[in-house]
Amino acid sequence: MLNKLSESNYYLSNQNDKERPTLGLVCGDKYSLVIDGGNSVQHANDFLREIEKLDVPPIKYLVITHAHWDHFLGMNEYKATIIVNSLTNEIMNNWRSYSYDDHSLEEYKNAKKMSSLCVDIIKNEIPDRDSFQLNYPDIIFEESLQLDLGNKVCILERIRSTHTEDSTVVYIPDERTIFLGDSVYGTTTNSLFHFKQSQLLPMIEDIQKYDALHFILGHESICDLDEMDTYWKDLITTSKAVKSTSLERALESFEIDNKRKPIGDELFFLEAFVNDQILKSQL
Ligand SMILES: [Zn+2]
Repeated sequence: MLNKLSESNYYLSNQNDKERPTLGLVCGDKYSLVIDGGNSVQHANDFLREIEKLDVPPIKYLVITHAHWDHFLGMNEYKATIIVNSLTNEIMNNWRSYSYDDHSLEEYKNAKKMSSLCVDIIKNEIPDRDSFQLNYPDIIFEESLQLDLGNKVCILERIRSTHTEDSTVVYIPDERTIFLGDSVYGTTTNSLFHFKQSQLLPMIEDIQKYDALHFILGHESICDLDEMDTYWKDLITTSKAVKSTSLERALESFEIDNKRKPIGDELFFLEAFVNDQILKSQL
């Protein structure tokens, strides 16, 4: 079932056991916009079936928030005008050159071009794989793009992010709702989970520019302003404590600054920032 935020805003919750991210739907008087295509043909069709139950205008646009497979492999199903930023398009070009038959998928898995989880989901949830090919985008933008769905303006903008360099967010001003994709998360590089430390403050600045009250994230439920403020505060305080590749020194520094030991997510964030320092030191 879709979650309803307002008469014009809906989302399908993420499903972690199937590596499915949150998918968004924004409806104007004339058209609807889908945010992220889903991780497979089946995921997209599950979403489309839910949308059919609503009395909403036809889906005209689909925006892909970034070029991670779980956000776009279902994109062909919507028969929509596909919108991406230019870097997302570049990265997705690799996926357009791929073949999706069993033999090719095994090759990509061995060459670490695809994770084994990704290959499993493609095998299970994309039928007719021998002829499967990803469509090309119809609109490629650089920094930002504004859409009007009929009395419903949507602002698409590429922001600086700790997750990827190609993160697009979608802001609906009259709802004060923002679809963040995975932009506020960390990412895994060479098996190390890290937050791109240099992008943390720029990202927060880019997101706080919007007057948002409702924040929809790629792999969890909706957050309100207080929850986002706590998230930013935890990331900022832990990032401040990390100045080297030593977790020990980061823990000491955190304790001096905050007069207590890190708790809950703080420890996870400290490790992720230390990992970022480790990856930077390997460059
Ligand atoms: Zn992602």
